[in-house]
Amino acid sequence: MTTKDEFKQAPHKLLVIPGPIEVADEVLFANAHPSMSHVSPDFIPVFGDCVRMTREVLYTKTAQPFLISGSGTLGWDQVAANLVEQGENALVLHSGYFGDSFQDCLETYGAKVTQLKAPIGRAVALSELEKELKSGKKYKIVTVTHVDTSTGVLSNAKEITAVVRRISPETLVVVDAVCSVASEEILFDDWDLDVVLSASQKGLGTPPGLSILVASQRAIDVFKSRKSPPSSYYASWKKWLPIMNAYEAGTAAYFATPPVNLIYAYHAALKLIVRGEKTLEERFKLHKEASRQVKEAAKRLGLKQLPETDDEAANGMTALYFPEGLTAGDILPRLGKRDVVVAGGLHAAIKDKYFRIGHMGVSVVDGQRGDVNTIVRALEEALKEARTKSA
Ligand SMILES: *Cc1c(COP(=O)(O)O)cnc(C)c1O
Repeated sequence: MTTKDEFKQAPHKLLVIPGPIEVADEVLFANAHPSMSHVSPDFIPVFGDCVRMTREVLYTKTAQPFLISGSGTLGWDQVAANLVEQGENALVLHSGYFGDSFQDCLETYGAKVTQLKAPIGRAVALSELEKELKSGKKYKIVTVTHVDTSTGVLSNAKEITAVVRRISPETLVVVDAVCSVASEEILFDDWDLDVVLSASQKGLGTPPGLSILVASQRAIDVFKSRKSPPSSYYASWKKWLPIMNAYEAGTAAYFATPPVNLIYAYHAALKLIVRGEKTLEERFKLHKEASRQVKEAAKRLGLKQLPETDDEAANGMTALYFPEGLTAGDILPRLGKRDVVVAGGLHAAIKDKYFRIGHMGVSVVDGQRGDVNTIVRALEEALKEARTKSA
């Protein structure tokens, strides 16, 4: 039998897209746990710990985590099906591709969506938000994409929430933090957030397949006082809340089988994040440093960032325009040849003009891996080669 100490990952290219990301050996090993019953006394406390440690990652004491089999997208369905009723208004702050998809999801469940759209490379201005909230329309929720993975734009979730609380205190603030949980600081209680939704495979450094959503007690109360039943079966909090409560209390309840092995993997990842050698604060600092390193290298190489200002640029990823005369076909295969996998463009309006690098999780927290240096070196070499070829 292999033990954790003998465990080694198969050779592979360095995966530095904005998720899925590289996962630690401990996490991959935990995923290989022998099959267990989802109601086994050995498994119950593992699930319970995941619920508790998820709160720690977001600095919340009282919010309610939901850990449900599915991808990040399921978080949108949960919000749409549990917090918004037919015909109610939702305000979507758009800083890239994911704003459009969240809107699409909300409309699927019958929400009336208004979108505030920032220019490409910017976050929505607080003054625009303020103006809209004062327009007289009553919004049930405001959604913001914390880091829009299509643009690398970081929105100021703290300030946005402060504006909403000041002007429309009952409106719930929903943060799509799929790409930012564990790579950007999120102070759930201090900022007074209502929903943070994420997924396992990005900053949390776990294989894909787990929807991770955290809801404030205010959001839970809004859910409980719905007039109509939740508009989804699988995503219904009516079904899942008792399950989360049971696991946390050390007993089991069944609605739909949880992804047992993935919960073991997530548990290992959370232990590294909140019980590891580095504190959460150190972890966020390391993400900032890695980000600065990649962004400065890019600048040196003459590459322009998508985000227009430094304080609106994510720390867990970097989005860069290709230089004049070069395309994805010139750069990405040359990075691949150097065993570095980055992502192409995603924002429809500029899809072919830029690419994206993820620098999150173990790649930046475990300095011994040298992943950030590997990225920078590969980028230098690939660009140099591409420029020579095209000259
Ligand atoms: C990746 C991502 C999603 C979607 O998550 P999936 O796990 O692909 O379903 C949603 N929002 C943001 C900001 C993302 O980065």
